[in-house]
Amino acid sequence: MYAELVDSMGDDLTVVNAARVSFAKEVSTFTERDAKLIKYLAKHNHWTPFAHVTATFRVAAPIFVARQLFKHKVGLTENEISRRYVSDEPMFYQPEEWRGAPTNAKQGSDGIVADQGYCHAYHEDVVRVATAAYHHMLKEGVAPEQARMVLPQSMMTEWIWTGSLAAFARVCKLRISKDAQAETAVIAKDISDQLSGVAPVSWEVLTDGRE
Ligand SMILES: Cc1cc2nc3c(=O)[nH]c(=O)nc-3n(C[C@H](O)[C@H](O)[C@H](O)COP(=O)(O)OP(=O)(O)OC[C@H]3O[C@@H](n4cnc5c(N)ncnc54)[C@H](O)[C@@H]3O)c2cc1C
Repeated sequence: MYAELVDSMGDDLTVVNAARVSFAKEVSTFTERDAKLIKYLAKHNHWTPFAHVTATFRVAAPIFVARQLFKHKVGLTENEISRRYVSDEPMFYQPEEWRGAPTNAKQGSDGIVADQGYCHAYHEDVVRVATAAYHHMLKEGVAPEQARMVLPQSMMTEWIWTGSLAAFARVCKLRISKDAQAETAVIAKDISDQLSGVAPVSWEVLTDGRE
């Protein structure tokens, strides 16, 4: 499971120059004054200058994580591998630990369950049976677009994800919070770490307050 930065356009200077175009001004060196401007923009929800910096990630994650991340729509575009065209050996995400149900909340998790071996074995069984059924169906001539129906949500998928700094900041703030799914937070943290290298000042202020 990972998010790898494959391309980016713009940096902190792009943000301040987008803001300053309103006054027909442009700078070529980033100064403390620009850092203050970025803080001001973020504080007052002037998000458009942050939409001129874009980044592209290649992400690999299980289906259930992809589904959550694809809920974020504005300012983001994804292209995903399709099992209508690809019938390669499916890969599956196996968690290191099976977490317990939350005691005081409706979502999230608490601690880990006692019988880890049972959960691992059960998941492995499901994956083995599902994979065998998938291959059998393909061998019998079933269309890949239907054969994939037997594969579980832990199957890995891959997509190219392009979006603006403003959009990825929204994703990361929402998905690195205490109530977010832990597996989804892994991808959000990966994205956050890499974007903090693209536009450090903007990223810091845009994601300030995330848990
Ligand atoms: C912890 C957690 C739990 C969640 N649980 C569920 C769940 O159980 N079921 C579920 O379906 N989703 C769930 N979601 C997804 C959530 O409802 C949002 O769809 C998701 O977080 C995307 O938010 P976004 O602000 O990036 O949305 P985007 O769709 O990318 O929109 C960006 C912004 O544009 C504005 N906007 C977009 N569309 C409209 C509109 N139609 N009207 C007005 N303003 C709009 C909003 O300000 C929004 O924040 C959950 C998300 C989180 C973080």
